[in-house]
Amino acid sequence: MLPQVIIIGRPNVGKSTLFNRLVGKKLALVDDQPGVTRDRRFGDADLLGLKFTIVDTAGWEDLDPETLPGRMRQQTEASLVGADVALFVIDARAGVTPLDEEIARYLRSSRIPIVLMANKAEGRAGDPGLYDAFALGFGEPVAFSAEHGQGLADLFEALRPHIEGTDDDDDDDDVPPPEGAEEEEEEFDPESVLKLAIVGRPNAGKSTLINKLLGENRLLTGPEAGITRDSIAIDWQWFDPTSEAYRPVRLIDTAGMRKKAQVVEKLEKMSVADARRAIDFAEVVVLLLDATRGLEHQDLKIASLVLEEGRALMIAINKWDVAEDPSALFNGVRAALDEGLAQVRGVPLLAVSARTGKGLDQMLTAAFDIRSAWSKRVPTSALNRWFDDALAANPPPAPGGKRIKLRYITQARTRPPSFVMFGTRLDQLPESYRRYLVNGIRRELGFDAVPIRLTLRSPT
Ligand code: GDP
Ligand code: GDP
Repeated sequence: MLPQVIIIGRPNVGKSTLFNRLVGKKLALVDDQPGVTRDRRFGDADLLGLKFTIVDTAGWEDLDPETLPGRMRQQTEASLVGADVALFVIDARAGVTPLDEEIARYLRSSRIPIVLMANKAEGRAGDPGLYDAFALGFGEPVAFSAEHGQGLADLFEALRPHIEGTDDDDDDDDVPPPEGAEEEEEEFDPESVLKLAIVGRPNAGKSTLINKLLGENRLLTGPEAGITRDSIAIDWQWFDPTSEAYRPVRLIDTAGMRKKAQVVEKLEKMSVADARRAIDFAEVVVLLLDATRGLEHQDLKIASLVLEEGRALMIAINKWDVAEDPSALFNGVRAALDEGLAQVRGVPLLAVSARTGKGLDQMLTAAFDIRSAWSKRVPTSALNRWFDDALAANPPPAPGGKRIKLRYITQARTRPPSFVMFGTRLDQLPESYRRYLVNGIRRELGFDAVPIRLTLRSPT
């Protein structure tokens, strides 16, 4: 049994042409197999030595356009059963259409690895559609021309990890999901459970804070569920005084582990290790500082780690009830943060007291807000309107007299917001110009203080 690769896409994107291209001269049609419906064609494909059965879901052309999405969904659902990988084909010349988006939404919820192909990408006419395709959330599209046989090597590279893993192992549980197709690309619901971690140096007040949050006026919704040996998740409901409604929060608590360890001299190291573990599970990380000690080197280290991992970061100065010169302390920490965290300026900074409860509602409000920014998707059109303005206001430099050309930008992922920018001579783009763009995205497009990723690509 060869691995099965299924071609999915709306009518006219070039599925049959791709099928024929992959099957080649042999064109071994086997659609008279018992139990095989007429709407599918099977063929033996040999892609640069990679062998698999290719399945084409044809026959949608004749369907009534009104009922097309529903019928396609039905047929796709049926044909995905037994497939190892799906090739999701779009027409790079036409760009991403509403029907493509509909299919993408559906495919995202399936468990099958998806390889996105932007077909008809020969020449330059396919460039915009190719850029658009990033926004479907399946990672980098394979630029392809079924008619001209271009992109075979890229398709090979994209398919190989999924196909070679299935040879001697029928359990597809361990087939890695396609890049960008994890649960995080699901449509974002601002009322979904907020995954929040509280990190900080020993004695910053983490345990006190968690206990205060879970105090009597809060509603515990479930038993403590173990995540790993070392951390626990606590599900509860925070009563939001502004909306006067309960909002679900999952607190990631790693403090317990540190208490158990009782190896005093390793404590400083451990808090970084704790933070690292908590970061893995959290959407938003609150770094707790101790007002009686201010911002220390260790805190900056933890903060950088959170940002490097692409999580939304907030800083809360705890023990505000005993702060000696509150405004000097606040301003000092603000300045030290902006100086010490070059990646992101203006990280939310709050003053709290785990003992009295002061500032905790504001902290939760800010956490929900920053998660929304972290999960936000900007339409490609709005993004490029901003992009054109940003380039006009401050054109990219021309090292050695040759101008760097920046053509297009698209948001490839959310959580954290990740952008791909296309152009030529991008290897020469100075870091300062890149920062100019990233800060522009953050300021002008409402990403606040969340970490932003920007990848540079020269289209082939
Ligand atoms: P299907 O409905 O998705 O199976 O699409 P077809 O394979 O029937 O192709 C639809 C149209 O697109 C045909 O006219 C093909 O010749 C054309 N086509 C397919 N692949 C390419 C390509 O790589 N480049 C260009 N320019 N046209 C293509
Ligand atoms: P952890 O090691 O980060 O979990 O810190 P703990 O929660 O164990 O707190 C360390 C110490 O700081 C304890 O003595 C707490 O009572 C104290 N503490 C925690 N939060 C506050 C606060 O808001 N104000 C004051 N004054 N003390 C606090």
